[in-house]
Amino acid sequence: MDIISLQSGSAGNCFYIETKGVKLLFDAGISGRAAQQRLDQHRKDIRDVDALFVTHDHSDHSRSIGVFQRKFGMPVYITKKTLAAVNRGLKLGILSEVRFFSAGDVCTVKGVQVHSIPTPHDSADGVAFVVDDGTHRVGILTDLGHVFEGLKEVLRSLDAVILESNYDEQMLDTGPYPFHLKDRIRGTGGHISNREAADLLNECAPSHLQWACLCHLSEENNSPEVALQTHHSTLGEAIQLFVAKRDGCTEIMQL
Ligand SMILES: [Zn+2]
Ligand SMILES: [Zn+2]
Repeated sequence: MDIISLQSGSAGNCFYIETKGVKLLFDAGISGRAAQQRLDQHRKDIRDVDALFVTHDHSDHSRSIGVFQRKFGMPVYITKKTLAAVNRGLKLGILSEVRFFSAGDVCTVKGVQVHSIPTPHDSADGVAFVVDDGTHRVGILTDLGHVFEGLKEVLRSLDAVILESNYDEQMLDTGPYPFHLKDRIRGTGGHISNREAADLLNECAPSHLQWACLCHLSEENNSPEVALQTHHSTLGEAIQLFVAKRDGCTEIMQL
């Protein structure tokens, strides 16, 4: 498997997974041009992508669904509630290839399974995803709301994970955000912190977890250094860690 974070954070999210000849994108929160250029850097052609999966309606995950579908010809896998919610806020334009799934369903693209897992994030119908190619399982676990029931079992089943590590608790506490926004982020429908993500990995990461990529880092309430410090102080060197960038792509992370 080749896995790339093309970008992650409140300014936009998009992840690429390629395995056994099947090429998948997860979320369309960056421009079509940025996605195309960043895949080009790794000699991947966005026109070869077989399917776009969408986690939820927030614009940092959904704003370019229409462009990705029409410009690059990829079918969009999305729930009906998520598409309706996106269309309430944005003008996506006409989508010619939409494959609806329900949160909790397993979709199959050319033999590769994509499991959807409902999340309690404050969106219309949010899901996380696990890609299973029959040999390896990788999770895209972001915008989780909180550490919900069943999340630990998902994590225990994975060989690698892209995991939300949104904020440092002290930085959020003492930072510039208004009180209602702080409450939203740390509330049950918001995001999970460095501490929660590190504890999750520490408790659930099996010995076969090859790496974790920390994603959706807050610009104001986190930094790659702070996130890594929290994770390293909890995990030691037990797990290889990557950090998804807020303004560019990672290297190819392999399984
Ligand atoms: Zn988000
Ligand atoms: Zn969100």
